[in-house]
Amino acid sequence: MKVYDKFYIGGKWVKPKGKDKIEVIDPSTEEVCGVVPSGNADDINAAVAAAKKAFKTWSRTTAAERSELIGKIAEKFTESMPKIGEICARELGTPLQTSIAVHGGLGVGVMSSFKDIPFEMEKEERIGNSLIIKEPIGVCGFITPWNFPLHQLVAKLAPALAAGCTVVVKPSSDTPLTAYWLAETLHEVGLPAGVFNLVSGPGRSVGEAMCTHPDVDMVSITGSTEAGIRVAELAAGTVKRVGQELGGKSPMLVLEDADVAKAAAGAAGGICLNSGQVCAALSRLIVPRGKQDEAVKAAKAAAEAVVVGGAFEEGVTMGPVASKAQFDSVRAYIQKGIDEGATLVTGGLDMPAGKNTGYFVKPTIFSDVRNDMTIAQEEIFGPVLCIIPYDSEQEAIDIANDSIFGLSGAVVGGNQDHAIEVAKQIRTGQISVNGGAFNVMAPFGGYKQSGNGRELGPHGLAEYVELKSLQL
Ligand code: NAD
Repeated sequence: MKVYDKFYIGGKWVKPKGKDKIEVIDPSTEEVCGVVPSGNADDINAAVAAAKKAFKTWSRTTAAERSELIGKIAEKFTESMPKIGEICARELGTPLQTSIAVHGGLGVGVMSSFKDIPFEMEKEERIGNSLIIKEPIGVCGFITPWNFPLHQLVAKLAPALAAGCTVVVKPSSDTPLTAYWLAETLHEVGLPAGVFNLVSGPGRSVGEAMCTHPDVDMVSITGSTEAGIRVAELAAGTVKRVGQELGGKSPMLVLEDADVAKAAAGAAGGICLNSGQVCAALSRLIVPRGKQDEAVKAAKAAAEAVVVGGAFEEGVTMGPVASKAQFDSVRAYIQKGIDEGATLVTGGLDMPAGKNTGYFVKPTIFSDVRNDMTIAQEEIFGPVLCIIPYDSEQEAIDIANDSIFGLSGAVVGGNQDHAIEVAKQIRTGQISVNGGAFNVMAPFGGYKQSGNGRELGPHGLAEYVELKSLQL
């Protein structure tokens, strides 16, 4: 068990101002697997003061210096993939091998992708008699969720470092151990004191203190839409820039000329990645009505082939959901689907065979779902797939867009050009066309209530930049 009793502030491990603690629960066993301190507004004040002090020198480093440090961090991440995988498997429940590949791999991929990006900061533009230069926005406050404990942090930290910003991080109380490992790693690599500061604690106190602090120039939250709204409201009082990466209910639209069985099997397997706790999860499978039976058959077979179990058990392909709260919430949605009259194809409320501890949910598929049902409108954030039949392509596009969210999506069809035309009509920040893969350099973010701003690549850097016009 990993026990931390200090915060990382100003390059040192510092005693918290209060005495509260957070117990981290292993969702595979329901046992305590770690302890971290739970802070308060005084701890945030100390962390922000350290970040503000460090900004004076860090913001004036050259792009080459920041690029070198980002490269060293990426190398350290690469060496540490098994360790990252182990921590995430323990505190989140992702099966170990998947955890190494996905949580370790994404951390490496995103950090490495920022190695050359600091040089973007040195590009200048002339407009008439003006010289336009880029400067880092300042002290950034980061609030992150539990579902990708390293990636969600790195997607903010890497561009902030590239730009020359300093940061204060508040990780989720469900998965703070990854953030503590990150602080130790950044210290080892030699990141200057105060550039990265870590305070754990509840969103309502520690998170909110960050959002109202006058010396924080920007806050960026990845989390639920509800928390994102609260953060923006609080940040408005001191006119901070706000980045929001929020929830989703993403559609996968299967066109008439697609291989329906292949698409449905892919969707059923996909919804089990990270136990469905993926903001961009394709949780609504929209299929031609005449082909729903074919889709159901293929999705059922794929879901029933998933092996559910503890993160460290051999042969397991899907772990538990992350917490008791998540377990209760996902099961309540499954009950709601049954009550609303959707057809339960597989899964449901029973625990997987042989399990009576751990937060395990069976891969669950509903068919005959109408898009106005709760299970099609609200983010379940668990291994639950809704199959929604349609009668015309226009209806399918309307169903895809009938959501308060707009984060991600997919279109599959026999004709690539036509699939692209359909993808353009779906109002989301990302769309995979015919299985197009996730790209760490492409902008990621949401339309509508899925958020504001973009992460990753050069577009992600722009969020951390102030533009200055020098009139010459
Ligand atoms: P959450 O909103 O409960 O918590 C996210 C973070 O916000 C946590 O650190 C929490 O402590 C903090 N927080 C909560 N209330 C706050 C407040 N009033 N003030 C300041 N901070 C506050 O979300 P979660 O359950 O940790 O994560 C799941 C959610 O995150 C899902 O909705 C998912 O879609 C979303 N998510 C979005 C993306 C994306 O990139 N768009 C990625 C991953 C997860």
